[in-house]
Amino acid sequence: MGLVLQHVTKQFGSFTAVDDVTLCIPEQHMFGFLGANGAGKTTTFRMILGLLEPTKGEITWNGERITYKHSHLIGYLPEERGLYPKLKVKEQLIYLGRLRGLHKEEIVKEMRYWLERFKIPQYENQKVEQLSKGNQQKIQFIAAVLHRPQLLILDEPFSGLDPVNVEMLKKAVIDLQQKGTTIVFSSHRMEHVEQLCEHICIMHKGKPIVHGSIKELKRSFGKKNVIIHGE
Ligand code: ATP
Repeated sequence: MGLVLQHVTKQFGSFTAVDDVTLCIPEQHMFGFLGANGAGKTTTFRMILGLLEPTKGEITWNGERITYKHSHLIGYLPEERGLYPKLKVKEQLIYLGRLRGLHKEEIVKEMRYWLERFKIPQYENQKVEQLSKGNQQKIQFIAAVLHRPQLLILDEPFSGLDPVNVEMLKKAVIDLQQKGTTIVFSSHRMEHVEQLCEHICIMHKGKPIVHGSIKELKRSFGKKNVIIHGE
């Protein structure tokens, strides 16, 4: 069943930020939302996370409406990075992991796995503000996956990263998918999603203007590298 959005609409006053989105993302799939600034991607994610209530429509995960009770099933990398600059990496992750109800030992074990994997184990006791933007992004990613969520929502995970970090993060995401995680992410750039996703949705001014398999879309548009303007 996976993640199902049915006629999901979000209005802020008279402004429609998300306009009648219907789609189904089966479990263990990797799905990409493409669109320029203001297309409605973040608003859609906030509704999936249960942080915003849709004005119309319904969102379900494996047949159940998503509420705050499902927060342990979902991981979220927000677009606006929310780390405390003065905390050390370990303190930061313990703090965020505790909010998820994890024990310190589990958090530290998971953190060390990811820091090793991202080749930054030496930063465990460094303050977040001393890390480069790319490394801060990796810490934010670790925070999103510490509790091993079933559904992982990544808002612009590759934005502002250098190619080496983009590749490292892509490999991590592929691995999680292969281990059973359902992954939904947004990007401005087709090249970031075409390697990873079988299916995408291109949004424009809140509307899903194109939706389907990448192979079919490429065949229809005949383009290899579509860039959606706005980055
Ligand atoms: P970006 O890449 O810039 O984050 P996006 O595709 O994620 O773009 P959203 O952040 O979902 O787009 O914004 C969609 C539209 O909804 C924008 O025009 C934005 O200004 C508007 N919007 C978002 N949140 C609110 C809010 N709380 N109140 C009013 N308007 C909002």
